[in-house]
Amino acid sequence: MLQIKRMPVGQIGTNCYLLEDPETKLCAVVDPGDQAADIDREIRKAGLTLSMILITHGHFDHVLGVPGLLEQWPGIPVYVHEKEVNWNKAGDQYMLLAPVDNIKTVKEGDTIPFGAAEIQVMHTPGHSPGSLTFRVGDVLFCGDTLFAGSCGRTDFVGGSYGQILLSLKRLASLEGNLRVCPGHEGISSLDVERVRNPFVLEALR
Ligand SMILES: [Zn+2]
Repeated sequence: MLQIKRMPVGQIGTNCYLLEDPETKLCAVVDPGDQAADIDREIRKAGLTLSMILITHGHFDHVLGVPGLLEQWPGIPVYVHEKEVNWNKAGDQYMLLAPVDNIKTVKEGDTIPFGAAEIQVMHTPGHSPGSLTFRVGDVLFCGDTLFAGSCGRTDFVGGSYGQILLSLKRLASLEGNLRVCPGHEGISSLDVERVRNPFVLEALR
């Protein structure tokens, strides 16, 4: 049974998640937004080996801890959508993940093996063009696409309100009461969001 630890990091308390497999002692980090040393300490304290970094999107508050973790764990893959990497350093894309070693771009429909589990990649644009949701069993790591009671901003470069509504509709239409692990603030569930989240309700109309 996979374990999930939420660790708010950085100046605006972005949720970094440690996905832990007690069987294999492997750990995947979702959105190391800052405080790489603290994240690393948590991993080692639990006797785990970091095997990958998953990036829901490239905004600075989700990726600042990537280089520090790669220093501690050289060679591990960093999974991210290709639209979230600042390949050409265009000025207005400054918030996106800077190219680091080991970037492995992923897209809609890809699966990433993690221990005995499988991580499914869903492309859920709107907050940013390459925003991803990672699904593991009945858990969704949805970055800044879906929040408890709200959704991510769409006024940054590459954002689109129309697109985020489509992404919210897609997530809300998934079967079952999946756990929602967002990029900011508290954890929720699809059942709650389907009845209480005004943006989800708008998307489903
Ligand atoms: Zn963001």
